[in-house]
Amino acid sequence: MAGIYIHIPFCKQACYYCDFHFSTNQERKTDMVRAIARELVLQQPYLAGQTITSVYFGGGTPSLLDEEELRLLLDTIYEQYTVSSDPEITLEANPDDLSLDKLQLLQQLGFNRLSIGIQSFYEPHLRYLNRAHSTEEAKRCVQQAKEVGFNNLSIDLIYAIPHPDHSVWQADLATAISLNPQHISAYCLTIEEKTVFGRWLRHQKIPPIDETFAANQFEQLVSGLASAGYEQYEVSNFCQPSWESKHNSNYWKDVLYLGVGPSAHSFNGNSRQYNVANNSKYLNALAESQVPYEWEELTQADRINEYLMTRLRTKWGCDLAWLKQELNYDLAVVQADYIEGLIRNGKAMLENRQLVLTSAGKLLADGIAADFFVDSE
Ligand code: SF4
Repeated sequence: MAGIYIHIPFCKQACYYCDFHFSTNQERKTDMVRAIARELVLQQPYLAGQTITSVYFGGGTPSLLDEEELRLLLDTIYEQYTVSSDPEITLEANPDDLSLDKLQLLQQLGFNRLSIGIQSFYEPHLRYLNRAHSTEEAKRCVQQAKEVGFNNLSIDLIYAIPHPDHSVWQADLATAISLNPQHISAYCLTIEEKTVFGRWLRHQKIPPIDETFAANQFEQLVSGLASAGYEQYEVSNFCQPSWESKHNSNYWKDVLYLGVGPSAHSFNGNSRQYNVANNSKYLNALAESQVPYEWEELTQADRINEYLMTRLRTKWGCDLAWLKQELNYDLAVVQADYIEGLIRNGKAMLENRQLVLTSAGKLLADGIAADFFVDSE
């Protein structure tokens, strides 16, 4: 079992908060797609013997690709890899790209899941973030996606956008629930240094993120979605029963995956590869049939820390027996007092050697994982 991630490094415009790898110059879009198809061929041995259960087109904005470009990538995957009979094939999409014709095309091509970058339904917040779509486009595309037959939709939201009160966030949540998607991902606004917001923060043009405001909105998110029947299966990811994203779950369950395209990462259980995050360098290398990546072998400490970091954020939690058996790390003994304190304070539960954080604990998941980290030798 394995997954494929395809990074499409182009966007119409730069959202002010975004530090993903992308370019707004789309002149070489088709060249890039051909290069990524070439990488899919060259990297085929990376997943030799594996069956692909999830294919994820992310970015950037993969919904910018036209029929021929999407078809080339999908055909290459089916030609080069063994794909399961019911793979999850996701396209990340922005509402302004999802016309009725485009939605029908995506269905015909075999995409069976859309992850739609809505972020907010409130027009002033869309403008604040520099999103390219409107409130109306966001609502329309979800409705039309359902009409053309998509029954596995995810929408992305952002909370903690500065506002005098919580009314906009509560309205955003209510609108998201009323659209009834199978999956909702909600992320706290963060201000990264190399973004427009990062620059504006340095020049005091925007306020920093208010941690208390963000924590309140996170609580509203968790309780609001729970009341609407969504399960929080990871800190930022919620789904209706049995609609977890295979792609996301693969990352958290140590499943192998190949990432292709500039800046994409790959993981084979023991090492990680990081493709160059530069479109020109990527294109030049692929023109020579070379994949430009850096490689890192994971130490025992890396593997333990990654496991703790990812699994503590999920509803599955950490399997302490697995940690001991596979990674020779007895967390239950090494951190006995700390674990007992978490349980006493209602932050964690321990059942059948599974350490799972409660909702209150999930709010602190990254900090708790960091407290558990082991040092590299
Ligand atoms: S948030 Fe998405 S659409 Fe906006 S710049 Fe980043 S990758 Fe592009």
